[in-house]
Amino acid sequence: MRWTPGGKRSANLEDRRGVSGGAKLGLGGTLILLALSLVFGRDFLSQLGGEGVGLPGAQAERASSPEEDRLVDFVHFVLDDAQVVWAQELRRKGQTYPEAKLVVFTDSVRSGCGFGEAAMGPFYCPADQKAYIDLGFYRELKARFGAPGDFAQAYVLAHEIGHHVQTVLGIERRVRQQQRARPGEENALSVRMELQADCFAGVWAHSTAKRDLLESGDVEEALMAASAIGDDRLQKSATGKVNPETWTHGSSAQRVAWFKRGMKGGRIEDCDTFAAGAP
Ligand SMILES: [Zn+2]
Repeated sequence: MRWTPGGKRSANLEDRRGVSGGAKLGLGGTLILLALSLVFGRDFLSQLGGEGVGLPGAQAERASSPEEDRLVDFVHFVLDDAQVVWAQELRRKGQTYPEAKLVVFTDSVRSGCGFGEAAMGPFYCPADQKAYIDLGFYRELKARFGAPGDFAQAYVLAHEIGHHVQTVLGIERRVRQQQRARPGEENALSVRMELQADCFAGVWAHSTAKRDLLESGDVEEALMAASAIGDDRLQKSATGKVNPETWTHGSSAQRVAWFKRGMKGGRIEDCDTFAAGAP
């Protein structure tokens, strides 16, 4: 992708790398302990040990590599670019677009949807309208899933922002209601949701192509990533068997097809994965 490292920082990125998702006190808790220390003349803060107190600035001491710095720059860039595009697309439809936050974390994180772990992969939480990613996933994408490249990374992020768009449009809420009403179709509805997020990622990709931000091989990188994290592929490598009943994200072929469809048309209307006969 054509972009410039060290560019503008996104106001929507929450960098929580190196902050423990487990026993984090936060500033409020720290202040209470500080007050107790002053009142009782004892140092309650130091009894906690240095880790996980959540003092501002604590995360800055964590070592980061030049590769990781560049990756964080890229995430800033993609996050803002995708959200500018969605704000335009929704304005075209007479709707406003409240921006999502993106939390970058290491290992584990507290979210509005409960405790999140790196092993779960990137996720979006409708309750706090934040997407969450451990950058280690990008290493996995390359090493374990065989999907390297910056546009593969961009696709993953754009997919999560796609879930935010679904939340903004009320699609997420409607689908959750349907899932509660018809538990037998829970997985099938989940697949349609996920494929729509892939299609929305494609809508953003369409815009990047139009603005000449793509380099040769970028689209293939995204398609490779979409294919690598298809349910059939993941199931086969994990258990040797494929069971479509249990799918929640769709097959490799479906994920690729919907990304392509979004990318071709570049319009939200092209992404009706809930229509009869789809996906
Ligand atoms: Zn998803």
